[in-house]
Amino acid sequence: MLFILFMETRTEISSLGEFGLIEHLTKNIEHQNISSVLGVGDDAAVLDHFGKQIVVTTDLLLEGVHFDLAYTPLKHLGYKSVVVNLSDLYAMGATPTQITLSVGISNRFGLEAMDEFYEGVYTACEKYGVDLVGGDTASSQKGFVVSVTAIGEVVADKYIRRSTAQKGDLLCISGDLGAAYIGLLFLEREKKIYLEAPKVQPDLEGESYVVGRLLKPEARKDIIEFLEKETISATSMIDISDGLSSEILHICKQSNLGCVLYEEKIPISENTKNSAFKFKIDPTACALSGGEDYELLFTIAPADYDKLITNEQISVVGYMTEPELGANIITKSNNKHPITAQGWNAITSSH
Ligand code: ADP
Ligand code: MG
Repeated sequence: MLFILFMETRTEISSLGEFGLIEHLTKNIEHQNISSVLGVGDDAAVLDHFGKQIVVTTDLLLEGVHFDLAYTPLKHLGYKSVVVNLSDLYAMGATPTQITLSVGISNRFGLEAMDEFYEGVYTACEKYGVDLVGGDTASSQKGFVVSVTAIGEVVADKYIRRSTAQKGDLLCISGDLGAAYIGLLFLEREKKIYLEAPKVQPDLEGESYVVGRLLKPEARKDIIEFLEKETISATSMIDISDGLSSEILHICKQSNLGCVLYEEKIPISENTKNSAFKFKIDPTACALSGGEDYELLFTIAPADYDKLITNEQISVVGYMTEPELGANIITKSNNKHPITAQGWNAITSSH
């Protein structure tokens, strides 16, 4: 799977033309949402959300900046391009319903490459119940460019902001953190080895968890559904795309509060710990400063604690305090340090 960019057959995209390509890529679309009134094929899509509020988010992904095709299969890239946007919608407490997808097609790509990319896109659309309703297509002189806009709906005024946490609320995290960053370190290392000695096969042994977390992340639809089912209102929420430290500081700053975060409570998988030790880096540092985990960080009122802990996918990692106390982490050795956006260097240097 690694380092295979070009497939054997190659159909020139120019043989279809722009409209032929769009038709080819979108011909099998079947809408899953009644809110998708009109999709691909006109000047714009028409959506009708029947009195619900609409939540919109967009992301731009550039080859060489956000992804490296030397080790990113196009199918995974298509899947991830959709998922990272849906993660933003879930972090607002919204239900995703549509996406638009724009591509700047690299001149190195044939039709087969685009088909593979769209296969990943449609797999994500199906899994998360969203309709692809439009986009734009251009050719790019400088690598592959992907932009996804995702649209979701929320019951009027029930969206969840970053700025509404309350003092005394519990800080919660879904899933586990730090894996995607180790996955990236690992793939970068293998790429370097490959470039120096192309005959050496990449050694993926034992790293499939962390590599999978980087290449094929999931958005936490299940967590939003769980909170709704248990009638737990998150008081604030953000998705963890840039590392836990940075996201916690967003909640603190925007809610005008401080917090206490316990290092020992940060959820980190055993797989991640094992991989981190091989790289001689501290797994906590990866969770705090890594990124691309696409988990949810949120706060709840303490009264909801009993309902919350029935879900093993959620960890309570600390609580919100008055702003004067600042944002702090209590280490495993019981020391207190301010949380900084660059991550907490003391952790890496203490090992
Ligand atoms: P316009 O010139 O009005 O922008 P286009 O020719 O770019 O229209 O697109 C025609 C239709 O195909 C539109 O409905 C547009 O949303 C859709 N479309 C274009 N590119 C893509 C794409 N890459 N993926 C999905 N839909 C697309
Ligand atoms: Mg267009």
